[in-house]
Amino acid sequence: MADQSEENWPEDDGAPGLKRRGLMFILSSPSGAGKTTIARKLLASDPEIFLSVSATTRPMRPGEVEGKDYHFVDKPTFDTMVEEHAFLEWAHVFGHSYGTPKAQIWNGMKDGRDFLFDIDWQGTQQLNQRAHEDVVPVFILPPSIDELRRRLIARGTDDTKVIDARMERARAEISHWSEYRYVVVNDDVDRCFEQVREILQAERMRRERQTGLVSFVRELLDNNPPPGA
Ligand code: 5GP
Repeated sequence: MADQSEENWPEDDGAPGLKRRGLMFILSSPSGAGKTTIARKLLASDPEIFLSVSATTRPMRPGEVEGKDYHFVDKPTFDTMVEEHAFLEWAHVFGHSYGTPKAQIWNGMKDGRDFLFDIDWQGTQQLNQRAHEDVVPVFILPPSIDELRRRLIARGTDDTKVIDARMERARAEISHWSEYRYVVVNDDVDRCFEQVREILQAERMRRERQTGLVSFVRELLDNNPPPGA
């Protein structure tokens, strides 16, 4: 739902000394598929990727920390941010509003930083439209619907009604899987994490992102002209 007309996305400005263009690594999944665990492992193991901290109107849960898990804001504040085009994308999820503040990403991308986004399919669609080249969308699937329900019950945080609602939403979320570039089935959390990490590493190596190599390769070619040139 971000405003597409006002476009000030940092294009590749060839900043001197920038070895690589930053990327936007999106993890989406139905709740219970293990996305949060994978995201935490990735952030803990890789110092070059930073969490995009969303703003939300939903109440803080026990254990959550303001500014680390989310920026918890009231509805008027969120609506003002929408009006001021402060979000890269935003959406209504589970009856609350969620959005990605533009400033942190904007500044980081310019410095060649990678960001991890824990956002739903609606946000992924919007980022894909705005910054297709920079976006790496990854979808995490549960091994089965039964296993998903089992995991939600095992959490012990929700009653049956809430679990039914989450299962309903899970089906809706999964129906968007084909909009993602990568899909990983989480039947083993360590293996799933390794696969997600490999995707990140490979995407970092994409030629288009390695802006710092342009002058290096030019130099290689200039100093080694083809025989007979
Ligand atoms: P939760 O309230 O359980 O933390 O998140 C609920 C859902 O909202 C999750 O699927 C999560 O990925 C999604 N979400 C969190 N932040 C954002 C955001 O900034 N934008 C969008 N579109 N979805 C978000």
